[in-house]
Amino acid sequence: MNYLYIANWKMNLSYSQSLDFCTNNIDQLNALVYSAQVVLCPSFVALGPIAQVLKKSSITIGAQNCSEFESGSYTGEVSAASLAEIGVSYCIVGHSERRIYFGETTEKIIKKINLLYANAMMPIICIGENKEEFLQKKTIHALTEQLEPILKTFVHQQYKHIIIAYEPFWAIGTGIIPENTYLEEISIWLKNYVAEFAPDCTMQLLYGGSINEKNIHQLKTIKLIDGFLIGGASTNFETFCGIIKIG
Ligand code: PEP
Repeated sequence: MNYLYIANWKMNLSYSQSLDFCTNNIDQLNALVYSAQVVLCPSFVALGPIAQVLKKSSITIGAQNCSEFESGSYTGEVSAASLAEIGVSYCIVGHSERRIYFGETTEKIIKKINLLYANAMMPIICIGENKEEFLQKKTIHALTEQLEPILKTFVHQQYKHIIIAYEPFWAIGTGIIPENTYLEEISIWLKNYVAEFAPDCTMQLLYGGSINEKNIHQLKTIKLIDGFLIGGASTNFETFCGIIKIG
């Protein structure tokens, strides 16, 4: 299967910059899909217009967040149902920036996951250890804490496919990536853990954190990684293409 590349533009590209990225590069973007699955995640306001621009292409779009509530009086929130209506196929949940700055708890993440599946979208579930946990060799403990309640829901709801983005918090936006041996160890553990817990579930494992054109070749040698979640480096079209084409 081709690698899955998720571009997380966060709040780094404005509405017009996001649209320009797509309209100026539509042909090259379409050419990429022969060798890769590509998902662009702009901010909420750009999702609808970008869905129109990409309507006839195989590039898919993802949201960076959705509400934990189905509908109702929740000022400022965007429902999973609204995202589905405008053609969104994926949604990032549990990103470390949302956990740290917006209090996204596992309980909220599970509510979001259920609403996304109910609306036929795929959640991209981000998990990872912080710097302290990494230094104290508590990564597996941290990942288990984050993942176990989510996997219980998967088993209970009988969801058939899971996308997990392993993103060590300390690697995001820092220019530092883990050693391959470390990533291999974590990837083996994650794949085994999901297989044991939810044997009927297929899985795509993504790595995210400071990916660039220089380190992608090394990351692509790790056999168990099925794709990449790319922040900063995905906001420049040439760099993003380079990452997809290398290796
Ligand atoms: C991210 O925030 O998901 C991410 C991977 O960011 P960056 O590539 O900029 O480290």
